[in-house]
Amino acid sequence: MDDRVFRNTMGKFATGVTVITTKVGKDVHGMTANAFMSVSLDPKLITISIDNKANMLEKIKKSGQFAVSMLGEEQQDISMHFAGQKTKEEGIEFDLVHNVPIVRDALANVVCDVYDSYVVGDHTLFIGKVFEIALRDGSPLAFYQGKYGNYRQLEYSK
Ligand code: FAD
Ligand code: NAD
Repeated sequence: MDDRVFRNTMGKFATGVTVITTKVGKDVHGMTANAFMSVSLDPKLITISIDNKANMLEKIKKSGQFAVSMLGEEQQDISMHFAGQKTKEEGIEFDLVHNVPIVRDALANVVCDVYDSYVVGDHTLFIGKVFEIALRDGSPLAFYQGKYGNYRQLEYSK
């Protein structure tokens, strides 16, 4: 199967956009990710999937902690920055929660200890045990078919 066909197909699954953050010593590192999901309510677990070639991989292994910041629709520049697509010249502001960095003014943040990890193909799944959360009102940044957008472009019904 062709990689592009696979990615185009996965791109039909509309997602939000997160920035994964961690800190090793004084070194704060961030990476854009949409492979994120809620896993368990008791205990409270989430998962992320990190490319085995990403710099983030060794940093999370060393720190044993990470945060997931869910971006708001006005934070596309932050997503592009942490995907290495376009540098945000003004810089990025982080807050520290129990020594774990989170992206300031994100829609929500979950702060985790690494609970388990699994190497799966060319990625590693980290299961995070959530020990702190923060959230604010707002609309999410969306990612669909390899493009950014917002959820107001989609129609909701219940
Ligand atoms: P680097 O390439 O080392 O860093 C990423 C960028 O962040 C660099 O420009 C770096 O300068 C900057 N940066 C890092 N830390 C700081 C800091 N403290 N202050 C300021 N700038 C900093 N990849 C996955 O593995 N899993 C996914 O789920 C995933 N989802 C993605 C979703 C989207 C919408 C996009 C656009 C990309 C996604 N990627 C994903 C790809 C991933 O974001 C990039 O390949 C990323 O560059 C790899 O991260 P890295 O750890 O190697 O970081
Ligand atoms: P794209 O068309 O590559 O992404 C569409 C979908 O394909 C993504 O939402 C994701 O579900 C899947 N995908 C893409 N690359 C993948 C990978 N290496 N491993 C597993 N699934 C992958 O969108 P784009 O705008 O060309 O992406 C920008 C960059 O970000 C590309 O280099 C892409 O590889 C990377 N990316 C990586 C992941 C990931 O590792 N899980 C997810 C999204 C984007």
